Amino acid sequence: MENGARKLSDEYEVTTILGRGGFSIVRKGIKKSKSDIEDGEKEVAIKTLKRVSGGGGGGALGMARFPNRNHGMITDALLANEIMVMKRVVEEVSPHCNVIQLHDVCEDATGVHLVLELCSGGELFDRIVSQERYSEAEAAKVVQQIASGLAALHRANVIHRDLKPENCLFLSKSKDSPLKIMDFGLSSVEEFTDPVVGLFGSIDYVSPEALSQQKITSKSDMWALGVILYILLSGYPPFSAQSHLQKQQMIMNGNFSFYDKTWKKISSSAKDLISSLLNVDPQKRPTADEILKHPWVIGDSATERQIDPEIVTRLQSFNARRKFRAAAIASMYTCTVFLRTKKLKNLVGSYDLNQDELQNLRNHFKTL
Ligand code: ATP
Repeated sequence: MENGARKLSDEYEVTTILGRGGFSIVRKGIKKSKSDIEDGEKEVAIKTLKRVSGGGGGGALGMARFPNRNHGMITDALLANEIMVMKRVVEEVSPHCNVIQLHDVCEDATGVHLVLELCSGGELFDRIVSQERYSEAEAAKVVQQIASGLAALHRANVIHRDLKPENCLFLSKSKDSPLKIMDFGLSSVEEFTDPVVGLFGSIDYVSPEALSQQKITSKSDMWALGVILYILLSGYPPFSAQSHLQKQQMIMNGNFSFYDKTWKKISSSAKDLISSLLNVDPQKRPTADEILKHPWVIGDSATERQIDPEIVTRLQSFNARRKFRAAAIASMYTCTVFLRTKKLKNLVGSYDLNQDELQNLRNHFKTL
């Protein structure tokens, strides 16, 4: 991997858009020369982070979750953080089959381009809901892969801090494709005390210690893994409430249950694992290495019996709703004219926004 002021277009043919993040655009690229990328890896993903010089956010968008991010652009400090973390990953972790690889970094006037391994297998939940068969054993394989990636990151003292299903992509469409952990935009190399509180993004995966602004450690990633596992086996999140505030309280109290009839059919070993990961006390949560030895994860107690199709249907609608809301919110920020002509309160119904999200949008428009 090299650094420096090189022109992206000299080295890569940039093609289709693969996706957009709050502060980035990700496009497919083809390496023009084969020199430093292995055969078969000519196709890459190029994540471009638009820079705003001078630091200091302050717009409503940057308010809570990204204190220095502002109106779809990223400050030098956050940019430097993402690159620093990715370099650490390259030096200490890569290549690891469950962690995205960074091939290159290019910088120009538009921003910084991270040249990443291309993941063409889709997001975690998209694949689960499209599978014909889905069993606890399949869910255990997912947990094993995420835990394996996390174990490598944690050994290198990297805390992901934003682990969620959208940040887990399959490398290819093949059935045995590895699952890759990605998006290190909020990760840290040292232990952090900054809160990572979702403003528009969901707080579904945020740990109690992050919400109460206590020290964030590798155990915060283990909490997020517990939430992912709960959703994988039930089709709904462990903490759900009408407002962010209520949800925050439920998370901070570790107030979840296995009461629903769904859980009667799930093995007690899986439920024990979830309970240990969703322990409010981070010290009592298992480490990623411990998870890799858990009987359910290694396949001793995870059953091959098909999971109730009702759960898959629920997971499908949870996934679709999440995608719709994410796309709606992203487009609203870039679609000021539309919003100025449409009453904000109508958006509650049309986009299924909650009151907190609506208020944040109002604040955003006051700053424009
Ligand atoms: P944010 O950075 O605001 O948290 P995000 O995590 O959604 O948002 P990105 O990491 O920039 O943003 O990714 C945006 C989208 O681009 C993803 O949802 C994914 O679909 C796609 N994407 C990102 N990285 C890759 C990759 N290496 N291969 C294929 N697609 C990718």
